[in-house]
Amino acid sequence: MTSAKFPEGAIRCLDKGFVRLVDSMGGDDSIVQAARVSYGKGTRKVSQDRGLIRYLMRHRHTTPFEMVEFKFHAKMPIFVARQWVRHRTANINEYSLRYSEARDEFYIPDPEHVQFQSDLNKQGRSGKVPKELTEKVRNYFTEISQRTFEMYQELNEAGLARELIRAILPVNLYTEWYWKNDLHNLLHFIGLRSDPHAQYEIRVYSDAMATFIQDRAPFAWEAYQDYVVNGLRFSHVEQSLLERYLPARVINDLLEDLAYGITATLHNNKPREDSELYNLYQKQGGTDAQSDFHLKWQSGEIETGNVREMREFRDKLASMKP
Ligand SMILES: Cc1cc2nc3c(=O)[nH]c(=O)nc-3n(C[C@H](O)[C@H](O)[C@H](O)COP(=O)(O)OP(=O)(O)OC[C@H]3O[C@@H](n4cnc5c(N)ncnc54)[C@H](O)[C@@H]3O)c2cc1C
Repeated sequence: MTSAKFPEGAIRCLDKGFVRLVDSMGGDDSIVQAARVSYGKGTRKVSQDRGLIRYLMRHRHTTPFEMVEFKFHAKMPIFVARQWVRHRTANINEYSLRYSEARDEFYIPDPEHVQFQSDLNKQGRSGKVPKELTEKVRNYFTEISQRTFEMYQELNEAGLARELIRAILPVNLYTEWYWKNDLHNLLHFIGLRSDPHAQYEIRVYSDAMATFIQDRAPFAWEAYQDYVVNGLRFSHVEQSLLERYLPARVINDLLEDLAYGITATLHNNKPREDSELYNLYQKQGGTDAQSDFHLKWQSGEIETGNVREMREFRDKLASMKP
């Protein structure tokens, strides 16, 4: 693999790194296409495609997302690559320091990223470091990088084996690789590595890769954000607590709102006669009197959504009622 300083279309990461999309296969369409094979249906409208992708994500039907692939070229410090390589489902080809000479490219953190060890998070950093100490840290980074590189060059010129002498170089040395993964596992990577708990230096790469996904598979990206990144899951213990302490009237109010929401959405999708609406609302579990129903219906305050998703929520809520 040849070295690239800063290739076209790449997103800059850290002081000397980058990520660029080399190639990709498919997008939202490929997810839908694959899923429809398993459900035996042909291609349908865009809004239905979005609904299907959201359904798949909600129900963790993950294999259709594996039909989309991304191949990246990235340059990052070795200590970032050490974290990155833990994601085992990718295919990787890395710049070889057995074969090629090391390059004088080391990561030196920007002053704002030089921080103290966090007291709260044992794997994190926090607080503002005084200017003098910050400069000392950065000087140490520079000094050790320069000194070890001089030693490396000296040994390299003396004909020592590169596979051995590379071991004296520090982990802030930049490496480079091609990294290919499917969308399911890439989203998993981004969920973990763009999280605020992940180390800043890998987060910038993860955030950069995310922009390419948003572009190629926007519905899948949106669904991942809604159901995985920003969604909440409750353990059995937590559910029991909610069941015990959540007042029944709160659940009932939510169920009522859902009955209205489902009715309005069904009506939007396929308009009904006015005379049929109250009956339809009752079928969705609505319990308001007919006069109250008409008042609310005319208020214009009913939120519509995805019928299937609202019904799933209704069933979950109903199961929490004492
Ligand atoms: C904030 C943070 C802190 C971390 N701290 C540490 C740490 O202190 N020490 C440490 O060692 N690691 C640490 N890690 C790494 C972490 O434990 C995982 O190794 C890493 O996040 C990769 O996750 P993964 O295995 O789910 O991903 P991948 O390897 O990409 O796998 C994706 C999924 O495929 C499945 N899978 C892949 N390979 C196998 C397999 N061989 N067998 C069964 N299932 C498989 C699993 O379901 C997995 O979730 C940390 C990660 C994060 C994000």
